[in-house]
Amino acid sequence: MSDIATVIETMQKKPLRRDAPPAKTLVYVTPYLPPQGVQAAKSHKIATKRPVFIKAFLHDPTMSRYCKNCGGGGRVVINLIEKGPYRDVPTTQNAITWFDGDGENGKGWYVIERTLSFDCPACVK
Ligand SMILES: [Zn+2]
Repeated sequence: MSDIATVIETMQKKPLRRDAPPAKTLVYVTPYLPPQGVQAAKSHKIATKRPVFIKAFLHDPTMSRYCKNCGGGGRVVINLIEKGPYRDVPTTQNAITWFDGDGENGKGWYVIERTLSFDCPACVK
């Protein structure tokens, strides 16, 4: 896991609603974490050899009044993963999440062991 924000640009061909502003470039933002968030993620990965996913969100960069790192919520969230990936939605009492896959972890459904949230480091100075 990287503690540097990754941004994937997605183009919307049509507005979501009729009265919506013209199509804009929305960006998928993976927030960067405060030091205690990075530490919690590293601890989980080292102790369990299982992944940690940072919760991403869609951001409209033209809405400049919202924080570019957290979208304005003031918190950043990580999911400590218990097991996965599964092709089909797993049966579990725990929360689950979808991950598109990267070089390290496969594409599919993952069972979340624990969710942690932290003050957004870009908001809290
Ligand atoms: Zn923020």
